[in-house]
Amino acid sequence: MNGTVAPVDPEDDLRVGGTVLPIERWGAPVMHTKTRPVTEFDEALHQLIRDMFATMYAAEGVGLAATQVGADLAVFVFDCPDDDQVRHVGVICNPEIVLPEGRDRKLEAADEGCLSLPGAYMELARPDHAICRGLDAFGEAGEVGGTGLLARCLQHETDHLNGIVFGDRLSGRARKKLYALHEERADNYPGDWPVTPRVDSESVETSDQRSR
Ligand code: ZN
Repeated sequence: MNGTVAPVDPEDDLRVGGTVLPIERWGAPVMHTKTRPVTEFDEALHQLIRDMFATMYAAEGVGLAATQVGADLAVFVFDCPDDDQVRHVGVICNPEIVLPEGRDRKLEAADEGCLSLPGAYMELARPDHAICRGLDAFGEAGEVGGTGLLARCLQHETDHLNGIVFGDRLSGRARKKLYALHEERADNYPGDWPVTPRVDSESVETSDQRSR
C-alpha cells in the first residue's frame, strides 16, 4: 500500500488482468450508502480490485471506489500524482482519512470531477494535504499521504466509501451548475461507459481535469 513510486509490489499484479465494468452514476443507491468494511482478503477481493484498476484506467481516472462499480465494500484504488508529480499507485481497504488541523489546515480550491458524474467539474476547496490509513489488499496495515491531486483523490475516494459524493460538499447553486455541465456532456458517455468508450466531441477535457 505504500504507494510512493510505481510499480508497487506485491499489488502490482492486481493492476492487470481485470475486466472493465460499467461505472455507476450518482443517484444509484450504492453510491449514497456507507459501505461494509473489508474482512476477507481473498481471491474474490483481489478480482474486484483487478476489475477496479481496469475500469479506472479505461475511464482515465486517478482513483475509483468499489461503490462506483456497484460493490458495497470499503475499498478504493488509485494511480495519482502528487504536487511534485510523483505517481502514487495502490489499494486501500477500510480507509480513514487524517486531515491537518489548526494552523496546519490550509484549504486549496481546485476543479474536482467524478467518474460517476462524467464530463462535469466544479471548484471545491479541500485541505491541501491528507493522510489515508487502512489495510492493503492482503490485510496489512499501511498508509499513504500527500499533497495536490493525491490529497484531493484520497479525500474524494474515502468520501465515496462513506456514501458521500463531492456534490454533497457543494453549495446548492454550485451543485445545480455541476449537474447542468454534466447534462451538456452526458450524450458523450454511453450508459455502460467505460465498457463502451466515450464518444468524443469537440469539447475535450484538459489533462488537469482528471476525474476520480
Ligand atoms: Zn468520484
